[in-house]
Amino acid sequence: MGLASVLKPLAAIGCFVVAFAMVILLGPPGIVAAAVFGAVVWAVWRATTYSSESTTPERTNCPSCGARNDVSAEVCGYCGDPL
Ligand SMILES: [Zn+2]
Repeated sequence: MGLASVLKPLAAIGCFVVAFAMVILLGPPGIVAAAVFGAVVWAVWRATTYSSESTTPERTNCPSCGARNDVSAEVCGYCGDPL
């Protein structure tokens, strides 16, 4: 199992805890803050996981983490799992 496949679930849990804390600490306004925070995290997540070449047919999705990889690659360049 690659490092990214370990870190990403941990990051997701961390983001959930932060969003939950915002709601607890700020009350109703915290829900809006958590939603904005979640949207930003999601955008960054997408940008770091998927390349801008996602429409190139010579690339394939990693079955483990979903990252785009060259079809000639034997292992995922992001998480290291075999393609
Ligand atoms: Zn992968």
